[in-house]
Amino acid sequence: MTKRYNTLSAYLRENYGGRLGKICIDGGFSCPNRDGTCGVGGCIFCGERGAGEHIKPAPIGEQVRAYLASPAAAKYGGYIAYFQNFTNTYAPPGVLRERYAEALCDHRIRVLAVGTRPDCVDAERADVLTGFSADRDVWCELGLQTASDETARFINRGYETARLADAIDILSKRGIKTVIHIIIGLPRARSLREGERELCETIRLINSLPVFGVKIHSLYVMRGTRLCELWERGEYQPFEMDEYVRLAAEAISRLRPDIILHRVTGDCPRPLLAAPDWNTRKSEVISRIDAYLESHDLRQGSKI
Ligand code: SF4
Repeated sequence: MTKRYNTLSAYLRENYGGRLGKICIDGGFSCPNRDGTCGVGGCIFCGERGAGEHIKPAPIGEQVRAYLASPAAAKYGGYIAYFQNFTNTYAPPGVLRERYAEALCDHRIRVLAVGTRPDCVDAERADVLTGFSADRDVWCELGLQTASDETARFINRGYETARLADAIDILSKRGIKTVIHIIIGLPRARSLREGERELCETIRLINSLPVFGVKIHSLYVMRGTRLCELWERGEYQPFEMDEYVRLAAEAISRLRPDIILHRVTGDCPRPLLAAPDWNTRKSEVISRIDAYLESHDLRQGSKI
């Protein structure tokens, strides 16, 4: 079935001649939403390892070399160095420069991707990223999750939505591509979830900005998080797969047609997953989104 939206794999094929292997890196950073700078406890869904639970901490170069020597790496001709855990621009510029350089220790690494928060992007840090962009692509991945400041307060995101446009402005002026992370199914109050209305607002905001890519995540309940406490008390219920599929497809149909979808669902490491069970069936979710788009004659941007 031909995809009805722009996939990352098609983009990579077109620009790099094939898919690139992703090297997920724990850069040893922290997060201002955990250390008291803008919040404590972090976002309610975030686990102890700051969204990179599967990554074993080790010196950065060692993490990269271990991946490159693994059987998983053998099927790729090039790679993306992805700084995943916590907030990867949350350190002085000199420290950032050193850590990114340590990751780029192999010429086959074609993309540097850095996950962070909009309130941790400024001109100095963006200049560090630009310094690595002469011979590779640099992507800055920004955790927005939602355009709603009300939901953002409930999930303890720790910054106002207006910061997103500022960060994208700083980055895009320097040629850094931005990838926005959003989540479907966030609670916006006790026993109240975001639905299609809030999701459409989030997509409208993204469409209004010079964004390169989007990652759509499904909200799952990870053990040990504050979201898990809500779920255990019956104050949060994740969507059923059918509803998630419908909302993801609706979001895609409202997304600007030039934006690349880097993912359309999220996956939690199995031992840490509390709910929903369907979160482990990633390829089924993707095929059902494709089937929904097909059966409703929708494609990326068709509902703008
Ligand atoms: S900003 Fe990212 S790392 Fe920090 S608490 Fe939120 S999800 Fe976790």
